[in-house]
Amino acid sequence: MLDVNNLEVAYGDVGALWGVSIHVDPGTIVAIVGANGAGKTTLLKTISGLLKPKRGEIFLAGAPLAGKAPEEIAGMGIAHVPEGRGLFRQMTVLENLELGAFQPKVRKRFKQSLEKAYALFPRLKERAGQKAGSLSGGEQQMLAIARATMSDPSLLILDEPSLGLSPIVVQQMFALIGTLHSQGVTILLVEQNIHQALKVADYAFVLKTGELAMQGTGTELLADPEIQKAYMGVL
Ligand code: ATP
Repeated sequence: MLDVNNLEVAYGDVGALWGVSIHVDPGTIVAIVGANGAGKTTLLKTISGLLKPKRGEIFLAGAPLAGKAPEEIAGMGIAHVPEGRGLFRQMTVLENLELGAFQPKVRKRFKQSLEKAYALFPRLKERAGQKAGSLSGGEQQMLAIARATMSDPSLLILDEPSLGLSPIVVQQMFALIGTLHSQGVTILLVEQNIHQALKVADYAFVLKTGELAMQGTGTELLADPEIQKAYMGVL
């Protein structure tokens, strides 16, 4: 599905990623975990075309993404839910969902996509006419994810979906990620909530100051003493 090979990304002269390679199989949840500033967001932004790599290659189902604009990459089937959600706060829930289906080939299926999104997120149907900015933090995150699903993406990229949410809403968020997974959506997930992320992930990559430090199945990494010590507060 997604192959990232030897990616190198810098902000000006300051390097942020060095020789990072990851692979995402269709239908799986892959998590990218690591401390603040490890380069997780940089990796996601480079995959969706918002940043240009200095070196390396990215392929989606074998098609190269290098040099393509974000809109083109979105059209190829990648939907990115950014950290901070990227909603249009003054627009309604429905208008935000419409924007998720702006690509012509997706717009044709708008009605079906909307019904599917409402089935998955019933709260959004109840609040269709409400301004996005007036939703609770959890509802806004649901809306951001629902908007991304409107394009029926082959790869859904989620950057810190649990950020700033209360523990109960975090549980709901991870349950939702599990539901999307069971519907066959492929998910690339960045999380600071390492425990939850590894629990839900089929496979995970650990980034440390811009380099790949470890990788393995979620279960393997959860049981790893180094991971427990470094990221989960286990002494
Ligand atoms: P966090 O969880 O805190 O968001 P992260 O793992 O997502 O962290 P990135 O945001 O990818 O990390 O940042 C990786 C490195 O790149 C950091 O050292 C950061 O300071 C730097 N960086 C990120 N964005 C920029 C930018 N726009 N200009 C310059 N440096 C940046």
